[in-house]
Amino acid sequence: MSTQKHYTGLIERYRDRLPVSASTRIISLNEGNTPMIQLQNIPRLIGKDVEIYVKFEGLNPTGSFKDRGMTMAVTKAVEEGSQAIICASTGNTSAAAAAYAARAGIKAFVLIPEGKIAQGKLAQTLMYGAEIIQINGNFDKGMSLVKEIADHAPVTIVNSINPFRLDGQKTAAFEIVDDLGFAPDYHCLPVGNAGNISAYWKGYTEYAVSRVCSTRPVMCGYQAAGAAPFVAGHMIDEPETIATAIRIGHPQSWDFAWAAQKESGGWFDKFTDEQILAAQKMLSQYEGIFCEPASATSLAGALQDIGSGKIPEGSKIVCTLTGNGLKDPDTAISQCAAAHPVTIEASLDAVKRAILDCL
Ligand SMILES: *Cc1c(COP(=O)(O)O)cnc(C)c1O
Repeated sequence: MSTQKHYTGLIERYRDRLPVSASTRIISLNEGNTPMIQLQNIPRLIGKDVEIYVKFEGLNPTGSFKDRGMTMAVTKAVEEGSQAIICASTGNTSAAAAAYAARAGIKAFVLIPEGKIAQGKLAQTLMYGAEIIQINGNFDKGMSLVKEIADHAPVTIVNSINPFRLDGQKTAAFEIVDDLGFAPDYHCLPVGNAGNISAYWKGYTEYAVSRVCSTRPVMCGYQAAGAAPFVAGHMIDEPETIATAIRIGHPQSWDFAWAAQKESGGWFDKFTDEQILAAQKMLSQYEGIFCEPASATSLAGALQDIGSGKIPEGSKIVCTLTGNGLKDPDTAISQCAAAHPVTIEASLDAVKRAILDCL
């Protein structure tokens, strides 16, 4: 680890474990180093003796864990002389690709599914100046187009099929072990394209091989009920969920994710949109942590499996909160009754009455 005080991103911090050389120009926005927050109120509420930590990846520079993969993918694309990158995206990959391309001074093309990308993600992608190509098809269709186009145009794919993406993302596992001093017993993640669960497993495994940690966690992959190919055991053609970041039916890291599940003794499960949104709201209202809907799937899963005893008391659990709640204000506002407050008279009396009525 570098001795300089100013944090300059995960590649600098973990450069001895990443495929960069001394002459590599690093494209970074100081991503990584995200907080591990121990939940205080929810364990008490459910009456279970467990330590639950959330790794709040929503506090990365563009508001999701995709920045970890993108700093590596864009660094390597630039090193290889690429002038343009391309990805299919449910929103967060496009925001990250657009930001890191801007930082590098290259062009970003993003294929997004029409009408299925959250407001905040669209705003970011527009502001960072990417070329947006909206298609009348879902993420899986966009992904298959991106895989074909790379043979026809000089663009580097920065979806998680780009192996440098997983290398960047594995650093989240390093941070967790460096932070706790050991690996957790269970690691809970939302699963969409399945790159992240594969990357965490890679990270934990590398640290275990180097004896930085003596154990690896059980990996728990949680999906949305309408987009749960790992639970079904086969690809799904028309995935549907309000958690648009995991609205994926044909995950690209299929084999890696199954390996993570099998080698770790873990499992996959699925949750309805209602369960996902309830977990998102619970985390906001009881802990003050606002993540996006897809991210809350990790907590929905952890709470169910703690409740049933599948994750036993005494366990240390990490849930990755993959993205920031501000990404998707529409979904948040639509589930809050107080989103359309009644207007009262601007007088001391009226405000006093409003407060006393609530206490
Ligand atoms: C990309 C993303 C996921 C899914 O990660 P995969 O690596 O595709 O499984 C989950 N949540 C959020 C917020 C994401 O942006």
